[in-house]
Amino acid sequence: MTTALVTGITGQDGGYLAQLLLAKGYRVVGLLRRSASSDVIGERLRWLGILDKVELIDGNLSDLSSLIRIIQDVAPDEVYNLAAQSFVAASWQQPLLTGAVTGLGAANVLEAVRIIRPQARFYQASSSEMYGLIQSEIQNERTPFYPRSPYACAKLYAHTMTVNYRESFGLHASSGILFNHESPLRGIEFVTRKITDGVARIKLGLAEELQLGNLEARRDWGHARDYVRAMWLMLQQDQPDDYVVATGRTTTIREFCRIAFACAGLEAERHVRTSTTLMRPAEVDVLHGDATKARERLGWQAEVSLEDLAAEMVEADLARHRRRVS
Ligand code: NDP
Ligand code: GDP
Repeated sequence: MTTALVTGITGQDGGYLAQLLLAKGYRVVGLLRRSASSDVIGERLRWLGILDKVELIDGNLSDLSSLIRIIQDVAPDEVYNLAAQSFVAASWQQPLLTGAVTGLGAANVLEAVRIIRPQARFYQASSSEMYGLIQSEIQNERTPFYPRSPYACAKLYAHTMTVNYRESFGLHASSGILFNHESPLRGIEFVTRKITDGVARIKLGLAEELQLGNLEARRDWGHARDYVRAMWLMLQQDQPDDYVVATGRTTTIREFCRIAFACAGLEAERHVRTSTTLMRPAEVDVLHGDATKARERLGWQAEVSLEDLAAEMVEADLARHRRRVS
């Protein structure tokens, strides 16, 4: 039986990846950071119906000794490093923590793998945010990076460390440069989920309006379930490498609002308000990915359309709020 260690298993991607790996017959072990609110920790895994099917072990990305102990005990064949302080806006408020977890945390995992389990295959969750102030209209693996937030700076460090460990130590270390991907399990602070949650509240009479920041930014949004498949495919290749994972379609926040509100028979223009307090110190105006390499080498492509993604998210948020009010 193949064993996978997943950091960030309680997050959006961790849940979908664990589900995929379990379906493939893996033993799935997740790194769990201790919290006083342990009752809500496994919420996403519970929602997916797999909380009792994964093994959870206490540890923290900032604690190298915990990572060494876990890798020693678990002896993973594959290590997926998904844990991070993942919210761009928060990274200006907590730049050092973001650097310590999102950047150095990845280096800790790489070190633990190199020291204890160098034969394990390693996946790093890199981000399209590294392109930041885009240097090319459409971004692929050869596009230069220009990070625009402490989060993106930390991700770029983790990304280049992954490449470096591959080249220096021969680790089977791959990096997925994933463009934004969403789902009903997306954190509520991210714009798509904030919008679908807002749609549900407004539809059910729990709110009248939704405050957002920059509506003109464009993102290349896919479904997280599609994107975790790309992660797994990367680790099944003979050679480690870096891959862009994207849909190839870019859409404004304004247009996403229109699509999501329409799912509930509402008009976005009547409910969306903008607030300058939600604007960022530096914005990433456009992300638009070219996943040709992933398609050609991994046989991967996005399957869920933006319209279907929005509909699934709105439906899930309506169901959540209906449960709460009933
Ligand atoms: P989430 O924010 O949903 O999940 C982050 C996970 O990291 C959670 O399980 C969280 O645990 C864990 N974590 C945070 N800090 C620590 C720590 N110090 N030690 C151990 N675990 C920690 O992110 P996603 O699932 O959306 O994304 C997965 C990865 O992919 C992240 O690295 C993200 O930056 C990256 N990424 C995501 C994209 C997206 O569009 N979703 C795009 C490109 C990259 P807890 O539950 O306790 O908070
Ligand atoms: P990101 O691409 O990882 O930063 O993902 P987000 O979902 O947090 O943000 C995507 C884009 O939506 C950014 O350009 C934000 O500036 C923009 N945006 C506009 N209003 C909001 C908002 O209220 N919340 C968030 N999170 N983003 C917003």
